Amino acid sequence: MENPKINDFDYFLFDLDNSLLNIPKPSEYFDNILLRTIEYFKREDPPKRNERDKFWRLDNHYIELLKVWGIYLENYGEFWKIFDNIDFKLRKFLINNNEIKLYSDVIDIFEKLSSFQKKLGIVSNTAMYIVDYTIEFFGIKKYIHYAFGLGYEKEQKIAKPSPEGIKYTLNKLNYNPNQSKAIMIGDSKVDIYAAKKANIYACLVKRGLNKYNQGYNDWKHKPDYIIDDLNDFSYE
Ligand SMILES: [Mg+2]
Repeated sequence: MENPKINDFDYFLFDLDNSLLNIPKPSEYFDNILLRTIEYFKREDPPKRNERDKFWRLDNHYIELLKVWGIYLENYGEFWKIFDNIDFKLRKFLINNNEIKLYSDVIDIFEKLSSFQKKLGIVSNTAMYIVDYTIEFFGIKKYIHYAFGLGYEKEQKIAKPSPEGIKYTLNKLNYNPNQSKAIMIGDSKVDIYAAKKANIYACLVKRGLNKYNQGYNDWKHKPDYIIDDLNDFSYE
């Protein structure tokens, strides 16, 4: 498999968490937030780690699991509101302590993409206000033409692996598939699935093979490119 060439594409969409932003031990980080969110709604007897791990594999069926855990809500957007609040506080703390930071290749590729007049977007499953805070804090907002993050209402349904966020973002950037090529770069299966469902190119960035991208040879939708980090983009 060849490395992707920058000049083969006009639109570059990036996932945020663990593609641009280095969150150490992401599965522990998000499990901790999940546990604290569960405890917010149900203080006694939270599910064990192996039970909680199922939550991330259920896509839109996670509500059934929350009910099994005894969490009944009129609007499950409330669950994500609390989840995002905890994520935001923890993330802000870790960002300000330099424990969560951008990967060292990010500014370099953003500079190059800008100099080639490429369109840049972010398509994240993280809450919009958290995406905003992050790109503002790290000074990368100026490179990004549109950033897509989630809200609380029905929006879990349009989270990746749904292609909706990608389609929405490309639409905002006046993408025309007959004239331009677009690529989504992400570290997880959901990024690759969303890209292929949106009919664009998909690039898996391994970032040292975290938990989310193991076994990609068995995925139903496979990445068009697999790179170790963003320095693997070629500039010819
Ligand atoms: Mg990610």
